[in-house]
Amino acid sequence: MGAKFEIGRIAGLPVFIDVSFIVLIVLWGEGYFTSGSTVQMSIGFLLVVGLALSILVHELAHAVTGYHLGVPPSHIELNGFGGLCYWAGPMRPEAWRRIAISLVGPLSNFVLYFLFLQLSQLPVVMGNRFVFTVTGYLAIANWYMGLFNLFPAFPLDGGKALEALLGTVLSAMTARLIVGVLGLCAAAYFVYLGINGNTWLLVIAVMLGLANYDAVQGAKRPPWQRWN
Ligand SMILES: [Zn+2]
Repeated sequence: MGAKFEIGRIAGLPVFIDVSFIVLIVLWGEGYFTSGSTVQMSIGFLLVVGLALSILVHELAHAVTGYHLGVPPSHIELNGFGGLCYWAGPMRPEAWRRIAISLVGPLSNFVLYFLFLQLSQLPVVMGNRFVFTVTGYLAIANWYMGLFNLFPAFPLDGGKALEALLGTVLSAMTARLIVGVLGLCAAAYFVYLGINGNTWLLVIAVMLGLANYDAVQGAKRPPWQRWN
């Protein structure tokens, strides 16, 4: 994507923020930050931080699993599409490694969903409207983040896992084509969902459309090297 800068390292792994991530933060928090209410602005701030950390946990799950399965990560990037984990070398060919590295991302979101849900149900939290709102929102956001990433489309985790799985019985090119076509269907579905004026869903539709059109066009190229 665009210009990016390093914000720090986690266990030696550099974490970058792309300028498009700032746009994402503004879109997320806009309603809260422009509300004029200090309470709403505080909620917005905590939600933005919580969502950024949730994405970071998702990418770290890919990175740590990759590291233990013989695919060391090179860096993590937070961007307008959420995030990406980049690898220092080529992806290992075995399907099970690629499936595990893919699916651990959405799995981490479902774990966060469960944790935030439990937290929001604690009596001390339920008695505090402010904390209850933040934890409840972060639980729901992680649930949808996990579900969205399981969509059988590039460059999502579900698409990469399905490509690896299909590749065990079909040629790599056929597997890529099938996921690419499913991804174009997913893009059409998001157009349908966003047609009533939800800009956010239309942006997702365009991103999925471009990525999967590219995958179908270049099905002969080697597998995706980036894990979002
Ligand atoms: Zn992922």
